[in-house]
Amino acid sequence: MGVEASGAVARLMQEFGKLPGIGPKSAERLTHYLLTASRREVLALADALRAVAEQVRPCRQCYNLTEGELCGICSDPRRDAASICVVEQVRDLAALERTGAYRGVYHVLGGRLAPLDNVGPDQLTLDALVQRVRQGGVQEIILGTNPTLEGDGTALYISNLLAGAGVRITRLARGLPSGSMLEFANSQMLTDALEGRRAF
Ligand SMILES: [Zn+2]
Repeated sequence: MGVEASGAVARLMQEFGKLPGIGPKSAERLTHYLLTASRREVLALADALRAVAEQVRPCRQCYNLTEGELCGICSDPRRDAASICVVEQVRDLAALERTGAYRGVYHVLGGRLAPLDNVGPDQLTLDALVQRVRQGGVQEIILGTNPTLEGDGTALYISNLLAGAGVRITRLARGLPSGSMLEFANSQMLTDALEGRRAF
């Protein structure tokens, strides 16, 4: 195309290149696409990015993403607030929601314990989880962290943290191969994992 990659163009290419799954070639292709798109289309994309950055924030209760104080799940009276499924990331919550098989609520940790990456308990939303359980009304905590070494370690940590709190603690089990990631599991596997959860 012969566009010299400097200034604004180079900057856009660089930003695209930071996105997951976007290599230098894809970054270049996306940039060139936008250079030939209408001004209106480009500004619509810019507006959408700005809106996400400025309006989306963590839910006050579960740390899911929301544009209000509480997310759509926490504020839905049809959801069972006595059951909290603890997940690492919002994308894990999204994967479980896609199954349509879960009627409880969630708690998003914001990651998993990873001592080698300097991620300790303070970096996660564990205090808020303990608070939620202390407030009462919670009967079951489903440990929905990934079935990886770190996910299992995080699940163990949480079960110790909540031991004696008077809640049933279960772990997603059947159907999820060890080492797999929830976000990539298909809905049937996740449904099986939810339904086959067992005491931790
Ligand atoms: Zn919420």
